[in-house]
Amino acid sequence: MKKSPEDCLHCGKCIVSCPSYRLFLNENFSPRGRNLLFSRNFDSIALDFCLFCENCKEVCPQGLSFPEFYLRKVLKEKGYPWPYLSDSLTLLYFHPEGKKLYKKFSPESIKFFKKGDFYIYLSCGLKHLYPQALFNFLEKIKAFGFKAHIPMDQDCCGIIHVTLKARETLKKFAIKKLGYFEEKKPVVTFCATCYWMLKRVYPLLFEGEKEEEEFISLSERTYFVSDFMIEYLNIEPSFKKNKAILYHLPCHLKNDLTFQKRTLKKLLENVSETCCGSAKLTLWVRGFQKEYSKFWKRDLFGKSFIATACTGCYLNFSLQIRRPPEIKHWIELIE
Ligand code: SF4
Ligand code: SF4
Repeated sequence: MKKSPEDCLHCGKCIVSCPSYRLFLNENFSPRGRNLLFSRNFDSIALDFCLFCENCKEVCPQGLSFPEFYLRKVLKEKGYPWPYLSDSLTLLYFHPEGKKLYKKFSPESIKFFKKGDFYIYLSCGLKHLYPQALFNFLEKIKAFGFKAHIPMDQDCCGIIHVTLKARETLKKFAIKKLGYFEEKKPVVTFCATCYWMLKRVYPLLFEGEKEEEEFISLSERTYFVSDFMIEYLNIEPSFKKNKAILYHLPCHLKNDLTFQKRTLKKLLENVSETCCGSAKLTLWVRGFQKEYSKFWKRDLFGKSFIATACTGCYLNFSLQIRRPPEIKHWIELIE
């Protein structure tokens, strides 16, 4: 049975887990407050300050996820007709520091295999922020005799269009993924947010529509790269261990979608679970991430590297800290 905000017991167990409550210390900015606002149909700016981290779901005795209620409503509305932005990272060109981060991806640098044991989702982050993660992964699996199928001309997961409430544009992104990943093979992602989009958001977007089954199937065969190595390929990745490296666990990898949380502690040293504050565009405009950064900056003392596994977290860290520490993707640090 579908859950609803009215199922909230008002126990308050979720409150301290919520990053936006942590900053504002205002009940409207907590999951409990948002559920109440939502169940009474009150509009509030506090609803837009939800980071979609789903930390609330993890601790709630009822398993309530505020993003699920919010997205269900927002994704059903027609929304705004935003243009189709096939590579969301091109927005970095409007940021003075962002321009320096954007790596031009040259298709010649990898072979676009037309056949393979599984698909790789070539997301904006993988192409333009941390392509070395892909090269390392391909080298690693080659040594074990596996081959990846990498369809050409892949585009963004469309996350920005969730924030912009652009339902019809978002649907175009989702439908394209059914085309890239047509055969019923696993799909491997290197970004926690893309992973959440394929796993959770696309099925919600098409709930009750004729494509729903296909998106549920896509969701079921989508893996995060390190889970995939362990669960599917039986390769246990060996990550560099060093006191100067801080591994950051993105929110969308620490909930019930993956088993990262269980396995990670044994694979890594120095793991931070602090939310990065999200890369939600609407919050950048309001200066939220800058204010929130005090909660994770304190973990960086004495570190030479911070390694994360999400395009949004990577961007947040990159745009808000002076080097060192350098920012990496986990898979750039496998040995
Ligand atoms: S998803 Fe995160 S930010 Fe949103 S209500 Fe839940 S804990 Fe708070
Ligand atoms: S933990 Fe769940 S039931 Fe308790 S207040 Fe939060 S949303 Fe409501």
